[in-house]
Amino acid sequence: MSAKYIFVTGGVVSSLGKGLAAASIGCLLESRGITVNLMKFDPYLNVDPGTMSPFQHGEVFVTDDGAETDLDLGHYERFTHSKLSRDNNWTTGRIYEQIIAKERRGDYLGKTVQVIPHVTNEIKSAMKKVAQDVDVAIVEIGGTVGDIESLPFMEAIRQMRQELGRDNTMFVHVTLVPFIAAAQELKTKPTQHSVKELLSIGIQPDLLLCRTDRFLSKEIKSKIALFCNVGEEAVITAKDVASIYEVPLVFSREGVDALVLKYLRLEAKDRDLKRWEELVYRVHNPKADVKIAIVGKYVEYEDSYKSLKEALVHGALAHNLKLHANWIEAEGLEAGQQACEEQLRDYDGILVPGGFGKRGIEGMLQAIRYARENKVPYFGICLGMQTACIEFARDVCGLAEANSSEFDPATPHRVIYKLRELRGVEELGGTMRLGAWTCKIEPGTLAHRIYGQAEISERHRHRYEFNREYEEQLTAAGLRISGSTPDGTYVEMVELPDHPHFIGCQFHPEFKSKPLEPHPLFRTFVGAAYELARKRETDKNAAELEMFHRPVKVASR
Ligand code: GLN
Repeated sequence: MSAKYIFVTGGVVSSLGKGLAAASIGCLLESRGITVNLMKFDPYLNVDPGTMSPFQHGEVFVTDDGAETDLDLGHYERFTHSKLSRDNNWTTGRIYEQIIAKERRGDYLGKTVQVIPHVTNEIKSAMKKVAQDVDVAIVEIGGTVGDIESLPFMEAIRQMRQELGRDNTMFVHVTLVPFIAAAQELKTKPTQHSVKELLSIGIQPDLLLCRTDRFLSKEIKSKIALFCNVGEEAVITAKDVASIYEVPLVFSREGVDALVLKYLRLEAKDRDLKRWEELVYRVHNPKADVKIAIVGKYVEYEDSYKSLKEALVHGALAHNLKLHANWIEAEGLEAGQQACEEQLRDYDGILVPGGFGKRGIEGMLQAIRYARENKVPYFGICLGMQTACIEFARDVCGLAEANSSEFDPATPHRVIYKLRELRGVEELGGTMRLGAWTCKIEPGTLAHRIYGQAEISERHRHRYEFNREYEEQLTAAGLRISGSTPDGTYVEMVELPDHPHFIGCQFHPEFKSKPLEPHPLFRTFVGAAYELARKRETDKNAAELEMFHRPVKVASR
């Protein structure tokens, strides 16, 4: 049986949460026993987001097969069971790259190569590839309707409807219905224009997901239905929610899944969203707070560490806690331990995330030293593991100039270096070590207790690695290497046994954390942070109690 398709487009403005909408529809369909796969087309010309600044593009999400992809793929994986690869994310740049390679090989047999049909055919075959072996393929088109650069994708999905017919294709349009304070009114005009734009390229939407900050009344819905040529039941209130994990529940209350099943003529079982409901209950009913400091080079930017922030939320929800994660700019800690004490003392856990470049490194080292010496739970991811090793080499082993050759190529102690370059190994394709690698975990370590297994697979995105020449010196002083690649080449995890919770990993566990399956490294890190919060609370209470019981000295005459 061939798959059916749901095409998700966006109108009016960007950032309406098309990716979350697509992921939530996938989640809802799965809750009814329907299998899904999701994919995204990005209309820009970069071949992939790997070379784009996180400020431009947000996080680069890495799949098992080492593709550097759009952050919406992270939402797809967090909300569904789909297994994503480089086939699930295409940019205009990558489509053209394929076509030009074919043209150079002479595959087009002398024909003129054109947007229609060659580009659109390439797009359609990319869609069909991910639609194998599932009931429904959900295809998100990046950008906003009306953009010049998304036209070939729009044309491709229009052709898909022609090819496969109404019962096998569905168009979902995510649009904005703003409330204008001055008029005290919800406005439907932007949506009308956006749908008109879609109609002009031959696409009639079947379902409108209206982003809004309040419920759409029956009148508003019928007005939109009339002007946009859709059934009234297909005008959905996609109201703003406190947690993204509520979106599937909001959609289900509006009957989105029932409509999709009706349109696509799919048989399905009753929906089962118990685990999501239970999760959202925990979001709204936390038992306590936990405070995590994320020490990084970037000032907080909503999207640049999307998966990391979500993974921390998952870790907190696993303990029924409310997460307060704040970004601390690393450069502000360079002054030393006093600055750390002032800025970090209120936090229950310290995390140094992945990153590139020299800026802020000295501040991160100060933060790590603070966490190590004050027994504050520490979690270092990728760059955060590398800096933990440098800090240990400097402050515990006395190698004052220890560094990574990324930050100081002339350092006499390259504790972190580019091993692959030295071995002449650039056979890995790009210059980064990307995607899933197996890691063997040493028995008797914190890492082993956390994972509860001896072999794991995690995703990578880095160029530099731990230099085993320093292994003896660092381990003799108390650092423990708890995970390595099975052949022993790469160090994957380090920890400090004489600390309540100090762990670093060369990989990015945040890419594999899901709300219903929190990653064990995040779950235990937040758990350790909460332990510290509780200990501080009991210490404080004990101190107050002691003050109370202290005998009052009466001055004797
Ligand atoms: N800059 C470091 C490297 O390239 C760490 C990369 C990262 O944290 N993702 O190895």
